[in-house]
Amino acid sequence: MGVSRTKVRRVRVLLVEDDEPVAESLRRGLIRYGFEVDWVTTGGAALSHSAPYDVVLLDLGLPDTDGLDVCKALRARGDVPIIVISARSDETDRVVGLELGADDYVSKPFGVREVIARIRAVMRRAQPRAVSEAAGPDAYGPRLTIDRKAARVRLDGEEVPLAPKEYDLLSFLTEEPGALMSREQIMEAVWDANWFGPTKTLDVHVAALRRKLAGAITIEAVRGVGFRLEIVEGPPAS
Ligand code: CA
Repeated sequence: MGVSRTKVRRVRVLLVEDDEPVAESLRRGLIRYGFEVDWVTTGGAALSHSAPYDVVLLDLGLPDTDGLDVCKALRARGDVPIIVISARSDETDRVVGLELGADDYVSKPFGVREVIARIRAVMRRAQPRAVSEAAGPDAYGPRLTIDRKAARVRLDGEEVPLAPKEYDLLSFLTEEPGALMSREQIMEAVWDANWFGPTKTLDVHVAALRRKLAGAITIEAVRGVGFRLEIVEGPPAS
């Protein structure tokens, strides 16, 4: 309160993955979307990692130990959400992983957006205590934060005044950055479930968001379909 700059509380991810290209691309993708990532390559390093983290992305095929044992050991210690990632498409692994306490599962190959959607979902489902500790603005890249509880948007720490529908539109489009959303999907979610009229108002609101959040996001118009919001990576231009 009374502070113009908000300290962004980023979600900290412990990434346990020995496959370097997979880990590196995932790490880069997560950082681009505003996550902090600690990357380790063995089960031993995962279990001895002492820095705090909010969620674990755990590969099952590790060089020193079975990922399922790591999952079990992590779960025995506490309730941090665990998402198992694996090249194994075997249904048995999925079931065993979930039985040992994993919260969700993604199979390789996967996209970073899919992983982010899972992270947000398991964190929403996490214990109330963990949720309240993690509550605060969501970071989208280095410049934009959205505090969904307070319905406040900040650019470089400064609040951006948005009209209610501009906020609703931004809130909807940032649920899955990079996804192409049709005009119909957007109108239905943001305006009215039974919208039959022209969608010019949507273009007006998109233009307002582009102007107000220039440099932090882009909203690309895809002709005949709809819009795609992307987060701009990299530090603010000075
Ligand atoms: Ca592996």
